[in-house]
Amino acid sequence: MERSAIVRVKEGLHARPAARFVKLARAFQSDVEIAKGGKTVSAKSSVKLMLLTVKEGDEVTLKVRGPDETEAMGMLMAYLENPQAGLGEEPEQQPPSTAAADEAPHRPGGHKGAAASAGAALGAVFPYFPPTLEPVDADILPAEREAEKARLRTAIAAVTGRMESMIAAAAPGSADAEIVKALIELAGDEDLIARAEETIGRGLDAVSAMLAAGEALAVEFERLDDPYMKARAEDLHAVTRQICLALTEKEDVDLSGVPEGAILVAEDIGAFELARAPLNRIAGILCGQGGATSHVAIIARNHGIPAVLGLGSAIEAFRTARRAALDGGRGLAFADPDQTLERDFAARIARQEEERQALTAYVDHKPVLADGRAITIAANLGSLSEIDNARAVGAMGVGLFRTELMFMAHPMLPSEEEQYQTYAALAAAFAPQDVIVRTLDIGGDKPVAGIDFPEEENPFLGWRGIRMCLDRPAVFKPQLRALLRANHEGNLKVMLPMVSTLDELRRTRTLIEECEAELEREGKAFRRFALGVMIETPAAVLIAPELAAESAFFSIGTNDLTQYIMAADRLNMSVAALGDVSSPAVMRAIELTAKAGVEAGIMVGICGEAAADTTLIPRFLEMGIGELSMSPAAVLAAKKAVAEYTARAEV
Ligand code: PEP
Ligand code: MG
Repeated sequence: MERSAIVRVKEGLHARPAARFVKLARAFQSDVEIAKGGKTVSAKSSVKLMLLTVKEGDEVTLKVRGPDETEAMGMLMAYLENPQAGLGEEPEQQPPSTAAADEAPHRPGGHKGAAASAGAALGAVFPYFPPTLEPVDADILPAEREAEKARLRTAIAAVTGRMESMIAAAAPGSADAEIVKALIELAGDEDLIARAEETIGRGLDAVSAMLAAGEALAVEFERLDDPYMKARAEDLHAVTRQICLALTEKEDVDLSGVPEGAILVAEDIGAFELARAPLNRIAGILCGQGGATSHVAIIARNHGIPAVLGLGSAIEAFRTARRAALDGGRGLAFADPDQTLERDFAARIARQEEERQALTAYVDHKPVLADGRAITIAANLGSLSEIDNARAVGAMGVGLFRTELMFMAHPMLPSEEEQYQTYAALAAAFAPQDVIVRTLDIGGDKPVAGIDFPEEENPFLGWRGIRMCLDRPAVFKPQLRALLRANHEGNLKVMLPMVSTLDELRRTRTLIEECEAELEREGKAFRRFALGVMIETPAAVLIAPELAAESAFFSIGTNDLTQYIMAADRLNMSVAALGDVSSPAVMRAIELTAKAGVEAGIMVGICGEAAADTTLIPRFLEMGIGELSMSPAAVLAAKKAVAEYTARAEV
């Protein structure tokens, strides 16, 4: 079967999205090909897929043939057409703007490179310049060529095995783990191996064959006028290097000896080497190669390590320097800074540290208002991999767990058992704090494999959220049953998205009672959970008093509420100015909701983006909002904003 699609994957099918797409394709027995502009490649090779240079907005055709073609087509199309299909992982942090670098004053001894990871750093240089690998150019006799190919395969397996154990040690779903996964895909890529084996077949040794194959493919990537693709050439070099080292039974210079506070200086560092280095000891990174989109830059940003890459031949000045200073936001680096610069940088680093420290003072802070009202600052999560981040910043539970990401990442509908495992782990991680789980919130704009969505003119006004779930008890009941069972492990609360009538709440309650009766009959342990409603439609605001009388809590979804109140599509940039949560109409809707909740004596929280807006937090608190839930990165600043509001009220 064949189907065409407009690709909605942000940044197109480059390294990590390509690796994920290939992994999905390989999960099916069917042959999967993808075509763009008259060129067709196997979707089971990430190298071929990346070289097809599929960008967001491109039209592609998927050709799937085999026993499981319907499922494969459904899953792969959902991935391509769904801009959020890659979610469930940490959003990639953006590289710092390079605009500032252009205005940067020129200082003596300063070198300009790519601003790859913001922040100032100063310290002793740790040079990392492993020798380049040279082809061996040994002749392999025809009778020994198969054995040489087998030697290559063994080396590849050893490298992928080492990378897999790194993934096992990393936080599940973390960006580092995803990068290593993409490298594993490259190491095992059928095109790369086929090229190397073909060269061995002509009589060259495995090291030379691998270096040649890696180089040939890297050149193809470098030719493409796209920084992402150029960065993949670096990945290919890194991977082929590891395979060649395994073939020669050598190890690269070890980064495990990096001293505390060092500035790592290298021509290039493979993402593989960097990801297993003691990153907490590295104060800054300087590289001759690389740019803001290379994996080294992504790892540096994820770990808050300032980095300047792409310094070119200037890296030689740092190689021999004793100390270095860098400004990662401006892409500036200084070899052996003079006393004035040392003082400047030391002062900047102290300020940076002070700001960070000032916020960490709020990790254990539990905000209480002047009138004694306790305020919960909770985290919005989409996957278990985000738990550690949320706990590290002192999130007081979870105010929104978006369950659809688990459904979207799954080749078919996740079973009750799989869902149970996820909810139970989540509840246990935060107990005794509350975890609010939102039931499946999907629609025509966020399709899921296993549910057939009709083509809709207006998916945002269509068959989505609670509307779809109530029509599909076979989808909804396993989720409710899993939640009832998992509530044993902690304190789960459950909320319903897109509610617009009282009937939707009542029908859900009836379904929950049915699930409880079933579990009782089956002798399975469960615990009833508090059932709340998300307020994100104008209808829900207008019937808030009636909803409050029958629900345990409200959570205001300001993202959707704003689009529906203002009749301004949240994805349409030409009406973005209208989508302002602070506009009087939206603020009045929030106020009406809070009033209805407070009068009924139930908790009212906000879990849309506005919850983290420190300029609006005082107004929300005045309205009687009791919980603000946001991305973990915003938690500390929100706690500070509430504390400052309280301090002002007390004087
Ligand atoms: C909202 O609409 O404000 C919300 C929190 O849900 P989502 O952004 O997932 O639609
Ligand atoms: Mg919403």
